Amino acid sequence: MRVLCIGECMAEMVPTGGSQDYRLGFAGDTFNTAWYLARSAPRVQVSYLTVVGDDAISAQMTKFTRDSGIDDGLIRTSPDKTVGLYMISLDKGERSFSYWRSDSAARALADDVDHLRKAMADADVIYFSGITLAILPDAGRSTLIDAVKEARAAGKEIAFDPNLRPRLWASMDAMRDAIMEGAAVCDIALPSYEDEAHCFDDPTPQATARRYVDAGADTVIVKNGSGAVIVFEDGTWSESPVHPVTDLVDTTAAGDSFNAGVLAGYAKGAPTQSSVAFACNLARAVVQQRGALVPIAADELTLDEKT
Ligand code: AMP
Repeated sequence: MRVLCIGECMAEMVPTGGSQDYRLGFAGDTFNTAWYLARSAPRVQVSYLTVVGDDAISAQMTKFTRDSGIDDGLIRTSPDKTVGLYMISLDKGERSFSYWRSDSAARALADDVDHLRKAMADADVIYFSGITLAILPDAGRSTLIDAVKEARAAGKEIAFDPNLRPRLWASMDAMRDAIMEGAAVCDIALPSYEDEAHCFDDPTPQATARRYVDAGADTVIVKNGSGAVIVFEDGTWSESPVHPVTDLVDTTAAGDSFNAGVLAGYAKGAPTQSSVAFACNLARAVVQQRGALVPIAADELTLDEKT
């Protein structure tokens, strides 16, 4: 089983204690999902498609990708650009983020349509997000959506997390339109209710699920923080309980790791209910540690035994 994740990975500066001391990391929503998927499903081939520069930081990022067990063979290089960057600032324990990504190499990830089509043809599952769509220029966004649509018609399984980030879009309307275009070409939609309620005024998680089903998704899995996960599949509703943690540390990458759990289950042929339970376990472990990419104990990664 081959899973292709498409999007942007950024350099990440994490404060280490001293007011001017930082540790370099690499993260980004679709990359985080690829990273957790490579860990939770070692027999699945996980590939990451993006564009980086040909400078030292880009080489470090590509090496990190490879060393994480993610295939880097589809990463293109743009000689005039480099990777995006974000910096985490801490003020009395509160984290805030500053981004330098408006001219990142990843914005060109849909420029080579032949490369995109070939990558999708070689995959069984294709995963992208609303952030993947947000960073692209209009032409690139259309190219990506069209390529995904063709891939779906050719029998590929398409998974999409709307990952709504109004600040990355010119307007709320532009975001809503593009997100629903993404929804129309996916099989599995993985929205987070809090964001959806804020941006689409959905009164309930079920209303969110219904909107994605109406757009064309077959399966909708609505994350809802510490609330139950709502699943709509084959015309049937179900709920998966979430066991809230008592020691919530950092929700960064909660949704990304959850998506990895769902994809790991799908790749192993597990029923959706089991995949969702595994995804909840994985995300539960992630929110108890600081940072996007955190070490996970082996017993959290054994979907086989749980299905
Ligand atoms: P979200 O995108 O915030 O809805 O969260 C994604 C997933 O992370 C949820 O569906 C849960 O599985 C998990 N999660 C988030 N917050 C908590 C929490 N407080 N306790 C346990 N799991 C959580």
